[in-house]
Amino acid sequence: NRIIAAGATREDDAVDASIRPQRLADYLGQQPVREQLGIYIEAAKRRGEALDHVLIFGPPGLGKTTLSHVIANELGVNLRVTSGPVIEKAGDLAALLTNLQPHDVLFVDEIHRLSPVVEEVLYPAMEDFQIDIMIGEGPAARSIKLDLPPFTLIGATTRAGLLTAPLRDRFGIVQRLEFYSTEELTRIVRRSATILGIACEGEGAAEIARRARGTPRIANRLLRRVRDYAQVRADGHIDREVARAAMDMLKVDPEGFDDLDRRLLRLIIENFDGGPVGVESLAAALSEERGTLEDVIEPYLIQQGYLVRSARGRMASQKAYRHLGLPARARADL
Ligand code: ADP
Repeated sequence: NRIIAAGATREDDAVDASIRPQRLADYLGQQPVREQLGIYIEAAKRRGEALDHVLIFGPPGLGKTTLSHVIANELGVNLRVTSGPVIEKAGDLAALLTNLQPHDVLFVDEIHRLSPVVEEVLYPAMEDFQIDIMIGEGPAARSIKLDLPPFTLIGATTRAGLLTAPLRDRFGIVQRLEFYSTEELTRIVRRSATILGIACEGEGAAEIARRARGTPRIANRLLRRVRDYAQVRADGHIDREVARAAMDMLKVDPEGFDDLDRRLLRLIIENFDGGPVGVESLAAALSEERGTLEDVIEPYLIQQGYLVRSARGRMASQKAYRHLGLPARARADL
């Protein structure tokens, strides 16, 4: 239930429909991705072909799903949305694929979680727009080939390393989303505020953006919580002071860290002399699962240089000491 969690909550999903950009022009930031995709989309349209298959990777909340909506809209085709764990059987995938119209986009979120059997069906579908399906059972079983309309598969994954090589090789276009800069997130917050009818000044938006961990989903969620605060404690207007006071109340600090982040850093420094300490020991001391620690808590701290992952374990950097207001560790120790 962390306010700064990058994964989607039900409330996020509910507002997504209104604030999710639909066109490339509204998809802010990610300049190289926008430029390249703009060209590929235009070229596919001019040739009257389906866009090549697209693999999008990047941490949660950076806009993978949004980008797939934008691509389908720009192509002027339908979008079908599904995800790796949802497609349980080969037949599920066959049903999805045979229902597509020519040039449609099929978006598969968490594509690294497809089962091997389903992946096998996907290969010829992606390559030749054909699938082999088995009908019947036992000795009478036989396989038939079905032609599919040309379509575009968009696969999204948080970790490109988890994809099998044969699957990855079948994507003609591979795009990596990066964390957003504060300026980009400020524009995203202002855009969302306008759509949601929230009075938010530039300085207020910038303050929210600074604490949003480079992630649009978090920025939009913080905006909604700051709005609540502004309506009750101020005149509904979000300026820098209101934004700061609201996020201080939420315990989201100026770096976008919450209690859990600070607990982790403090633990390494105070209980393990700044590290290195093994991930298992840390997880036990925090009463968290190892996976949660690695996938949810650590990435942003590592990306920001507060936490260092080495072969011997995790270490707190000098930045972490400074952030917590603790005396720096002697250099010789490091
Ligand atoms: P992901 O699929 O990577 O987890 P989403 O596409 O669901 O992330 O994006 C999360 C939220 O952030 C969406 O509600 C969307 O409105 C917003 N968002 C994402 N990328 C952008 C962007 N480039 N410009 C504006 N808003 C964005």
